[in-house]
Amino acid sequence: MAIESSQRIVIAGGGIAGLATWRALKQRGIESLVVERRPVAADGGLAINLPGNAMAALEQLGLGTDIARLGYPVRKREYRSRDDRLLAAIDEDAFWGESLRPRAVRRADLMTMLSTGLEASSLRADRAIASVVQDASAAHVRLDNGEDLSARLLVGADGVRSTVRQAVMGASQPSAAHIASASWRFMAPNPGVDGWTAWTGEHGTILLLPVDETTVYGWVAVSSPNVAGDDLKQLDHAFRNFPERVRKALAWALAHPESLYHSPIEEVRLSRWHEGRVILLGDAAHATAPVWAEGAALAMEDALALAAFVAETDDVAAVGRRFEQARQPRVAHVQAMTDRLSKSARLPYPLRRFIMPFVVPRSYRATYSPLKPTDA
Ligand SMILES: Cc1cc2nc3c(=O)[nH]c(=O)nc-3n(C[C@H](O)[C@H](O)[C@H](O)COP(=O)(O)OP(=O)(O)OC[C@H]3O[C@@H](n4cnc5c(N)ncnc54)[C@H](O)[C@@H]3O)c2cc1C
Repeated sequence: MAIESSQRIVIAGGGIAGLATWRALKQRGIESLVVERRPVAADGGLAINLPGNAMAALEQLGLGTDIARLGYPVRKREYRSRDDRLLAAIDEDAFWGESLRPRAVRRADLMTMLSTGLEASSLRADRAIASVVQDASAAHVRLDNGEDLSARLLVGADGVRSTVRQAVMGASQPSAAHIASASWRFMAPNPGVDGWTAWTGEHGTILLLPVDETTVYGWVAVSSPNVAGDDLKQLDHAFRNFPERVRKALAWALAHPESLYHSPIEEVRLSRWHEGRVILLGDAAHATAPVWAEGAALAMEDALALAAFVAETDDVAAVGRRFEQARQPRVAHVQAMTDRLSKSARLPYPLRRFIMPFVVPRSYRATYSPLKPTDA
C-alpha cells in the first residue's frame, strides 16, 4: 500500500538497527521505507556473538525459532593466557538460562532473518542517503540518484559514520575506541575450540568462537596503535607465541588474506539522539567497542522501544524524548562497562594476567546482570 509522504517513516540504513526497526514497526501495523546504500548488508561473510538480551530482543521481534535454528549455542566463555592457562571461565548457560542461551550466528543469516517479509515496495536498496534537511512539516531526504523523499519521521540507523547524524547534529565524528583502534575478523576451520575462547598476551587478544560444528569466527585486536590493515607480518608476529589452536586458525586466515576483514573500531558518544523529525538509533547513536558484544542487542532493543513509542503518538518530538529517556541509561551502562574493560585491557600483560581471574567474573556479572530481562 502506498504511504502518503506526509505520513511516511523513512529508515536510513538496512543494517541490524534499520531492519529491526522496520520489523518492530511492522509488528505494530506501521509501514516504513528502508533506504540501504548496499545491495546486501556489510560484513555479510562474518559472524556475530549474541548475548542473552539479544535473544530476548529477537524473540520479541518474532524470530526466536529462527535464531534457535540458525544460531550456534555459546554455553561458556574461557579467558586464557598466551601460554594457554585458564584464567577465568564463565558458565553462560547458568547465567542466562536455557531460554536466553547466547548464540553465535553468521551475520548474513541474521540479516536474512531480520529482513524476512520486507517487500521491494518498502526498500530502496543500492541507494545512499546523500543529504537531509528539515522544516516544520517534514524531513526531506535526497538520495544519491537524485530522488527526493519526505518523511514525518526519519530514523537514522545508518551506522557509526552516519550521514543522517552528520547532517542533523553537525560535526560529530566517531572517535577511535580505547581498547584498540582496529581489529581483524575472519572465519576459519575450527582448530579444536569447543566454546567462546579468548587468549590474551603482550601484544593483543584473539577470540575464537565456533559458529557451527566445523567453523570458528575469529576476532583479533592488536594493542599496538600503528598496525596497518595490510601489515599481516606484524599480525602474525603479535601472536607468534600463542597456543597451537590459535596459530592454526591464524595461519589459515593469513594464508587466505581475502577472508580477513580489517576494520577500525570507532565509538559514538552523544548526549542527544533526536533533533526535530530525526531520531538516531543503533551505532549511529551509540557505537561502542564490541568488548561485551552488545551492539546488535542494543540496536534491536532500540528498535523495539522506538516502535512502541511511535505506536503511542504521532508527536515525533515526544517520541524522541521518550525514546532517549527510556534507552539512555541502558546504553550508558554498556558504555561505562566497555570503558572499564578497555582500561584493564591496556594494563601491562603480567598485571592483566594476574588480575583477570578476579576481575573477569565480576565484570561479566556487573555488565550483564542489569541487561538481563527481569522476567528471565
Ligand atoms: C570488529 C567488530 C566486531 C563486532 N562484534 C559484535 C558482536 O560480536 N556482537 C554484537 O552484538 N555486536 C558486534 N559488533 C557491533 C555491531 O556490529 C554493531 O553494533 C551493529 O552492526 C550495529 O548495527 P547498525 O544497524 O546500527 O549499524 P550497521 O551495522 O553499521 O548498519 C548501518 C547500515 O546503514 C547503511 N548506510 C550507511 N550509510 C548510509 C547512507 N548514507 N544511506 C543509506 N544507507 C547507509 C550501511 O550500508 C549499513 O548497512 C561488532 C563491531 C565491530 C566493529
